[in-house]
Amino acid sequence: MFQDDASQPRTPSPARPAAGPASLARGREFLSIPGPTNVPESVLGAMHRPAVDIYDDDLLDTTRRSLQDLKAVFRTEGSTYIYIANGHGAWEAALTNTLSRGDRVLVLESGRFAKGWGDQGDMLGLAVEVLPGGWRCAVDPAAVEARLRADRAHEIRAVLVVQIDTASGVVNDIPAIRAAIDAARHPALFMVDGIASIGCMPFEMDAWSVDVALTCSQKGLMMTPGLSFAAASAKAMAAHATAGLRTAYWDWTSRDMPENYRKFCGTAPEHMLFGLQASLGLLFAEGLENAWARHAALADAVQAAVAVWAEGGAMEFNILDPAQRAASVTTILTPGFDPQRLRAFAREQLGLVLGSGIGDLTGKAFRIAHMGYANAPMVMGTLGATEVALAALGVPHRAGGLGAAATALARHFAGPR
Ligand SMILES: *Cc1c(COP(=O)(O)O)cnc(C)c1O
Repeated sequence: MFQDDASQPRTPSPARPAAGPASLARGREFLSIPGPTNVPESVLGAMHRPAVDIYDDDLLDTTRRSLQDLKAVFRTEGSTYIYIANGHGAWEAALTNTLSRGDRVLVLESGRFAKGWGDQGDMLGLAVEVLPGGWRCAVDPAAVEARLRADRAHEIRAVLVVQIDTASGVVNDIPAIRAAIDAARHPALFMVDGIASIGCMPFEMDAWSVDVALTCSQKGLMMTPGLSFAAASAKAMAAHATAGLRTAYWDWTSRDMPENYRKFCGTAPEHMLFGLQASLGLLFAEGLENAWARHAALADAVQAAVAVWAEGGAMEFNILDPAQRAASVTTILTPGFDPQRLRAFAREQLGLVLGSGIGDLTGKAFRIAHMGYANAPMVMGTLGATEVALAALGVPHRAGGLGAAATALARHFAGPR
């Protein structure tokens, strides 16, 4: 969550402060980037223990519970898998376990991440087709339906989409895309990257008939980077039986064997499992629905502030339709100023780490995360410090973003309690 200032040796000269006003960054650093996100102290504490025997009963139980708990996170009765990998590993697991060389997959563009997943498929020898979308709006379910209807021979074997694109800040309507696939009566597997959304907004693998769902540890699940997770439906398992791209490390059949080492294709990531149990414990104690509502309220606050600042004409929301703005990250275009200057000032002078624009938005945007272990004062602190930076740098903006955010958060509590 916060780093001790002792771990931030950022002052260039140890001898005396640089000329000019003193930095206000000393204190707890606010990490407001969309992954890795803040890790609660109790989660870090759960990892701070000696290694145990890989055959230890407690470890076997931790593995069993983690696989079970992930079913609750994905909302599925399907099979769950834990990879010692980041999200890119889970992408590869999804493709290699279910598809064969030459299979056609349809990637639904809405920013950077689904296309990145598709690029992996390209390297694996899949025939990757991108359904073009924009960087400023969600996937259009009608376009998905039209493309699938045109595929009369059912050559498309899988449809790949992200629920939240962390680069553009869009949220895609997964049930609506499912309905589009069904309306086209198309049998393709439906694969959803929920890396920036699961834990932050509703995701219902079984109710939405998602065949392969993915997430990872370091975003909404409040854990350190290093683990990613996949869940597979019965239909995905049937595709797995004949998949030609299967490889030893990712293979679901091998991981479904009873021995504990099979679950990880080798040594269990013990400390990360201890941390995961602690972070999922926090999430379940809060209640998934409450975590979703918390993210929605924090997103409202961020968007209320940005809407006020944007009246100055130097910045705007990347996602045009407010209903398509994500609950976990907000991407702000900066036609009127250099976002790197804002980020550098925030970090060096204020102790706030904002996200940069990535992909097509490199150098053109900044991002504010409201993802995972984040509460009202953390988001208000982030917004307040951002407003300080805008004012100090002379970026044209309307003042009062923080007040609008406060009003938005208060509105969350309006009504019967
Ligand atoms: C972060 C992210 C990824 C990539 O995850 P890594 O752990 O960096 O490999 C993939 N998809 C989405 C939507 C993400 O936000």
